[in-house]
Amino acid sequence: IYLQPVVRTLSERVCGYEALARWIDPIYGFISPGDFVPILEDNGLSYRLDTFVVKRVAEIQSRNADQGIPIVPISVNISRSDFDNCSPVDVITGALDEYGLRRNCICVEITETALMNNEGIIKQEIGRFNEAGIEVWMDDFGSGFSSLNLLKDYNFDEIKLDMLFLRDFSEKSKVIMTMAVKMAKELGIHTLAEGVENEEQIEFLKSIGCEKIQGYYYSKPLPINELNKYLSKQGLMFETREEKSVYEKTGLIDVVTQQALGLVFLTV
Ligand code: C2E
Ligand code: MG
Ligand code: MG
Repeated sequence: IYLQPVVRTLSERVCGYEALARWIDPIYGFISPGDFVPILEDNGLSYRLDTFVVKRVAEIQSRNADQGIPIVPISVNISRSDFDNCSPVDVITGALDEYGLRRNCICVEITETALMNNEGIIKQEIGRFNEAGIEVWMDDFGSGFSSLNLLKDYNFDEIKLDMLFLRDFSEKSKVIMTMAVKMAKELGIHTLAEGVENEEQIEFLKSIGCEKIQGYYYSKPLPINELNKYLSKQGLMFETREEKSVYEKTGLIDVVTQQALGLVFLTV
């Protein structure tokens, strides 16, 4: 399992990680999840990978807690076919309970395309995640055909803007990202941009009030044992629980407005 840090735009502190599977084969070397995940999905086996990832993530969180390392949420990717072969809600709550972890230690990412043409089972399961207090994020927002309908029909806590908007970075893409962030805030949904690689993109995402940033600019996905060393070398600090509760509220304020806005910190 590799982890990629997610950074809060307002504070430039690490506010989470995404867990990404890596297959390092003794013969073939490094195999990308883009190659092996679709094969597992087509054969109804991705639930075994994802169950493994969830258990490892719970173990990592528990070890961090024991070592006094600040705990930030780690998101896991759940494939559509997982819902046909296991109950991802039970797998995640089971792993959290086993290690005595809070429900906000793990978040779930479901890619937008997985939600199209489903027969209601995923809707029901997302409802169960909501009830269990586990955040559900829509991955690759804007990559499919029915993003807006999905926002209406499901309760998502966060959307991850598809990285193709940043790859393109045309005036049209910028308008779409601006409006998507504005709309999400209006709906009380948090926003994250994936695939951020340069300063120009960061400045733009800050200017539209996108709350979180993930991408090579801060860090590539890294193995766990290299991560903390890398972050301290980069001078990246972790967000505390108190900071999170403040930023989760301020992050929902729309900054693309005519009104003058200021963010003031008072330390007593
Ligand atoms: P994703 O969930 O949308 O993950 C983001 C992908 O973008 C990752 O690719 C990450 O390494 C890459 N990325 C992050 N920052 C940047 C950047 O700044 N520039 C560029 N060009 N790329 C960036 P990765 O790890 O190859 O994963 C590909 C996809 O495979 C993931 O897309 C996800 O859908 C799937 N996947 C990965 N791990 C798992 C897993 O454990 N379970 C399941 N079901 N799917 C997984
Ligand atoms: Mg993802
Ligand atoms: Mg994505």
